[in-house]
Amino acid sequence: MQSTTKELKEKALAVMDQAYSPYSNFSVGAAIRTKAGNIYTGCNVENVSFGLTICAERNAIAQAIATEGPTMVLEEVVITNRNSEGDSIPCSPCGACRQVIAEFAHSETQIQYEGKNKEDVRVSMTELLPDSFRF
Ligand SMILES: [Zn+2]
Repeated sequence: MQSTTKELKEKALAVMDQAYSPYSNFSVGAAIRTKAGNIYTGCNVENVSFGLTICAERNAIAQAIATEGPTMVLEEVVITNRNSEGDSIPCSPCGACRQVIAEFAHSETQIQYEGKNKEDVRVSMTELLPDSFRF
């Protein structure tokens, strides 16, 4: 694991503790590194009207856009999760997040998430969403 990836994972684990997830008891943290070299984090924020819930990945991307503006490019995304027992489960980004990540990624942007055996799964943007929606 690269030192930046290790740092991203530590930050994702830390921000995961800030999650607002009273309905699912499933906390998620995401840390992203941009082409500019900056790191941003986000956690999931649920809502009683479930459709208004925002995922950790999209929260982190919104933070990056708010700071770097519309030319922000994603280089790496690291996602962690814990259930109410404190265990991680295999969990790749949801479809909405895949499309939002693709909007700001390039084909080789790296996405890391927790796999079946608690290992880190790393894939490229092309592997995560091979035929993303584009105009
Ligand atoms: Zn999502």
